Amino acid sequence: MRVVAIEEHFLTPLYREHVTANEYRNYYLASRGEELGHDIIAENMDLGAKRLAHMDAHGVDVQVLSFGSPGPQAFGAEVAIAMARDANDRLHATMKAHPARFAGFAALPTADPPAAVEELERCVTKLGFKGAMIHGHQRGEFLDGKKYWPIWERAEKLGVPVYLHPALPHPDAVKAYFDGYEELARAPWGFAVDTSCHFLRLVFAGLFDAYPRLKIILGHLGEGLPFAMHRMNEHSWAAAKRRGLKKQPIEYLRDNLVVTTSGNWFEPALVCTLLALGADAILFAIDWPYEANKTGMEFLRSLSISDADKAKIAHRNAERLLGV
Ligand code: ZN
Repeated sequence: MRVVAIEEHFLTPLYREHVTANEYRNYYLASRGEELGHDIIAENMDLGAKRLAHMDAHGVDVQVLSFGSPGPQAFGAEVAIAMARDANDRLHATMKAHPARFAGFAALPTADPPAAVEELERCVTKLGFKGAMIHGHQRGEFLDGKKYWPIWERAEKLGVPVYLHPALPHPDAVKAYFDGYEELARAPWGFAVDTSCHFLRLVFAGLFDAYPRLKIILGHLGEGLPFAMHRMNEHSWAAAKRRGLKKQPIEYLRDNLVVTTSGNWFEPALVCTLLALGADAILFAIDWPYEANKTGMEFLRSLSISDADKAKIAHRNAERLLGV
């Protein structure tokens, strides 16, 4: 079975120069790397033979690559524009070297929305990228703000999806909810809360009425939304109508959202997602190198779902949505 994994990360030397040390993050990367059996930063930096060997060892045919979180989102335009361009050029060189094995999502300098639109256009039309990845809020601003709408508009026009990937939650949320509990702020809990809320802000802002063909990808089996979407809708559809939305909130989840399996290796959650959204809306992803290819592939192979649904998740949906 062909396997396309679509949330697979890399980092660049320029990013490493700019990112500041964080005691907890260093602890996390070291302890997590020990658990996974590889050095997370070293594997992030490799875009060649070693990455391919890790893929081959476990049967990952294609990685759709993206710049790691938060990437350019953590910086102002003076850094972000050059950083995104450099990352996208490196990614393009990687795709050119191994066209059957790698595809790409663009990194965007959201600090400067017109520059982000230009970079998205360049990456899709000139470099053959399959979409873009945005890592949460732009230094405390969510992207439902009107100044960011040209980015969404251009993605719809180009016919490419945008992967809304987690980053450390909004600084006020970190302070209010996670002060003293930094280990909960990231992958264990905070990432999902921040990213699902960001997506719902896009829904309630009317973004998908303005751009009905726009597709958003959420990782980690939809950041909790498949489990919570019915209650969310029950208690908000009237307010959504009052706000002027054309459809009930839950309908935008069905029409404008697809999700991936990245780093959520729990079959009950997968079954919930399958029942809530359907097999056409789930794509395979691992989240390399924060997750192990071995774990992701064993999860995929062991799922007790039909072969037809498994093939959709493993590759067919990616072929249809991304053209990989
Ligand atoms: Zn990721």
